[in-house]
Amino acid sequence: MASLDHPPGVALIQQDPLFWFFDGNVVLLCHGGIAFKVHKGVLAFHSEVFDGMFRQPLPSPTQAEAADQIIEGCPVVSLDDTPNDIVHLLLVMYGRNQLSSAEEVVYPALAALLRVGDKYGAQAVVQKCVWFFMSMFPATLDHWEDARDYRHRIGFKDHDAIEVYNLLRHIGPSLRWPAPAPHPARSDVRPLKTPLPIALFLCAQLDEDVLRSGTRRADGTPETLSKADLECIVKMQRKLRRRGARIVSQAHTFAFDPKDCERSSSYVDPYADADADSSDEDDRRGCGGEDECEDAYEEYFGERMTDEVEDVYLGGDLFDPWIRARMVEVEKEGHVCGGCMDGMRDMHDQLRRRFWNELPTLAGMAK
Ligand SMILES: [Zn+2]
Repeated sequence: MASLDHPPGVALIQQDPLFWFFDGNVVLLCHGGIAFKVHKGVLAFHSEVFDGMFRQPLPSPTQAEAADQIIEGCPVVSLDDTPNDIVHLLLVMYGRNQLSSAEEVVYPALAALLRVGDKYGAQAVVQKCVWFFMSMFPATLDHWEDARDYRHRIGFKDHDAIEVYNLLRHIGPSLRWPAPAPHPARSDVRPLKTPLPIALFLCAQLDEDVLRSGTRRADGTPETLSKADLECIVKMQRKLRRRGARIVSQAHTFAFDPKDCERSSSYVDPYADADADSSDEDDRRGCGGEDECEDAYEEYFGERMTDEVEDVYLGGDLFDPWIRARMVEVEKEGHVCGGCMDGMRDMHDQLRRRFWNELPTLAGMAK
């Protein structure tokens, strides 16, 4: 990076190695004295704010020179942004990043683009970022697992939750998920309207000392939480942990319904033909479905649920897939009858959905 002659009183100015066009006609000056010599027309084409700015007459070269606002004959626009954020925006504006390949779509770039894209009214950039953010922070629980994998794939780290929360809170109501169609079979599926409750949920998974000390963006810029936000998250943490304990306790409590248990003499097969041979029923008689299924559940599910697994839920990660995946596994293994395992899984799913619907309230936001 070459240093430039700089106006007196201004810290050393360095030209960015990539965005310093010989025919540029405006210089953007960022934190740390990093400067970009770019084109007004390109900036204005992508950004409402730059468009508005360049339609106003900029100071004439003589006026600007007198006011130390000119570099290599170009007017200087001072920006209150980090060079990293501006580089990401320029990479998109100049077509170097089209957000189309795995290398281009990485979390630090998306966060920077959403932050400065929104600030400078680069609507097309924001819309593209919103699409990726929707994949990271889904509106429904059905997409939770995919979203978790996606966040991991694009380099989102747990502590980035603080940056995301600050970012989304700053952008505010302009970022709302489009309302998905109602679920045809389940009226208890209520999609989230904004990603904010999930950002808070992810913050609530962090240790309290991380929440208190804050974290850093990819370019080293500190991200901290306000005292009010910190209190809100710590409060949410307590609520999530209580709910996690309910999930664990429910998973440990085998619920028996003789009508559902395929090994019980009271079992009612919803698909049975009324005239069918009753020999199956004879087989079940006296085989003690409840004890058999309960014992098998204890042995094959309960004993797999180690303290380590329980700690995940007790720590507030209500939507971890472990319990659900093991329930499916135990059912497939055939130790517990399908009817009993269906019932246990349904109860677990219902509780998860209920807690998902509670997220805005748990996050201290109005529904
Ligand atoms: Zn059973």
